Amino acid sequence: MKKLFLYSLFFGVLVSCKSNIYRNESDSIRKQFRKVKKTIFHKESVPLSNGKNPEWINTVNFNLRKPNFIILHHTAQDSLEQTIRTFTLSRTQVSAHYVISDDGKVVQMLNDYLRAWHGGNAIWGKNTDINSASIGIELDNNGSEPFSEEQISSLIALLTRLKKEYNIPTPNIIAHSDIAPSRKSDPSAFFPWKRLSELGFGIWPDAAIENAPENFDAILALRIIGYDTRNLSAAIRAFKLHYIQNEVDDVLNEKTINTIYSIYKKQ
Ligand SMILES: [Zn+2]
Repeated sequence: MKKLFLYSLFFGVLVSCKSNIYRNESDSIRKQFRKVKKTIFHKESVPLSNGKNPEWINTVNFNLRKPNFIILHHTAQDSLEQTIRTFTLSRTQVSAHYVISDDGKVVQMLNDYLRAWHGGNAIWGKNTDINSASIGIELDNNGSEPFSEEQISSLIALLTRLKKEYNIPTPNIIAHSDIAPSRKSDPSAFFPWKRLSELGFGIWPDAAIENAPENFDAILALRIIGYDTRNLSAAIRAFKLHYIQNEVDDVLNEKTINTIYSIYKKQ
C-alpha cells in the first residue's frame, strides 16, 4: 500500500511537471484557436472601392478547404523532443503537421485542415502560399545521416493515408528544397525519393533516360515543373538534390538536361 502511494506520488509529480512545462503553451494554443474561430465567423462587410457594400447572405453548402501538396523536410535537429519543443514555442513561429522520429514514432501536431508554418517563403509554379495548400511532414534527421527503415516505413504509411484522404496528386509530394531552393536543402540526398515514387509518392525519371530534343529549353522546363528559377543556380541544385542525388551541384550538363526532360514529360 505504501509502495502504491509512493508510485502515485512519483507519477503525480511527473504529470504536474509536464503540465507546468506546457501550461503557457496551452494558453497560446487556446488563444490561437480563438483567433482562427473569430476569423471564420467574421461577417463584417467591407465597402468596395466603387462604393458598393457586399451583403452577407449565408450559404448552407460549404466545408473546409483541403490540402493539395505534401512537403517533406528533415528537422536538422538532434532529437524528436528538441523538434517538438521548437514547434510548441510561440517565439519560434515554425511548425509542421507531423513529425516522425528515427524509430518510426509519428507525432501529429496540428489538424490537417489547419495551416502549419513549415514552408516559409516558398513558391511552386504559380502557387506562392504553399503553407495554405500543404501538409508538412518533418523527419527527425540531422541532415548528414541515412533515414532509418522504421522512419521511412512510418512515412509511407502516413503518405498512403494522406494521399488517399485528400486526393493529393502524385507529383505534388515534394521537398522543402524544391519550393525554397535558395534557402533550403532538406530533405538531404539520403532521402529515398526513388523508392517513394515506386509506391506512388512523387515522380522519378524514367529508368532509361531519353535524350532531350535539340530545341528543348531546360530552364523553361524547370519553371513548368514548378521551380522558382530566379536564382537559376539554386533551382538546378534543388532539382539535382531531388532527382540526381549522387551529383548535387548547379551544373546543367547533358545528364541533368535529359533528367529535367524526363521529369517535365511527367507533368
Ligand atoms: Zn524544411
